[in-house]
Amino acid sequence: MQRRAFLGSSAAALAGLALGTDAAGAAALPSHVTIDPASRLTQGGWLRGKVLPGVKALAFAGTPLPFASDGSFIIAFDRDATATASLVATLADGRMVARDLVIAPRAWQIEHINVARKPGGVTDEDYLRLRKAELARIGAARSRETGASGWRQDFIRPAPGRFSGRFGSQRIYKGEPAAYHSGLDIAGGAGTTYVAPADGVVILAAADRAFSLEGHLLMIDHGMGLNSAFLHGSALLVKEGDRVRQGDPIGRIGSTGRATGPHLHWSVKWRDSRIDPLLLLHAPA
Ligand SMILES: [Zn+2]
Repeated sequence: MQRRAFLGSSAAALAGLALGTDAAGAAALPSHVTIDPASRLTQGGWLRGKVLPGVKALAFAGTPLPFASDGSFIIAFDRDATATASLVATLADGRMVARDLVIAPRAWQIEHINVARKPGGVTDEDYLRLRKAELARIGAARSRETGASGWRQDFIRPAPGRFSGRFGSQRIYKGEPAAYHSGLDIAGGAGTTYVAPADGVVILAAADRAFSLEGHLLMIDHGMGLNSAFLHGSALLVKEGDRVRQGDPIGRIGSTGRATGPHLHWSVKWRDSRIDPLLLLHAPA
């Protein structure tokens, strides 16, 4: 179990987790960070925590990690995250305390297909120009800081229906891997309303013109680097800049863009890491 790997043998560590020993390997320092025991320390998972007074700054995997005024923060782990990643706290007196987070590997659904991969689609200049503009809009949306606080919430599923495609699954064509599936597909039925899984701000709403792959793409920022994208919608019910609350209707399921049938593709990113939406939904038993 991934949580135990991080917390060590002491159940008492749940209450206040020492970040480890100092550089000299001296006795464990007092606790500086607490970790939400519901955290999912696994590829595609996440961790929520809180710094205690006396911590001046945090860094994760060598990059500064902001925390809210109450000390709360979130980290998430890419689908292909390495086995450990370092969380470093800088204390008021300048000491730095590090701890390697142990990130459990996942057994991704891999499908070997004994045919060669189909060559890519049209790559004429008009398409490339259009695609470049679409990707620029997505990149600009993701870089927006909205101050949304949905990152603190337990997420709810955005639509009813069967999960028709899992995050992280991948096809390998005669040894050549295709891109892995970056989201969770929900076959909720054409026209079904989907809702915001957590509070946020609409940072992209491709309402007028469908994107070539994503269709009527909708993106919501949940704050602290965490955002959701909803693909293939037939209609969008909100516009850029709108604040949404968890459960608010935001769009209708469709098959715009590159989709074989009506479904909601929901993907979640934290910074550059792609994470598994399913792991945001349920706390571990
Ligand atoms: Zn999908």
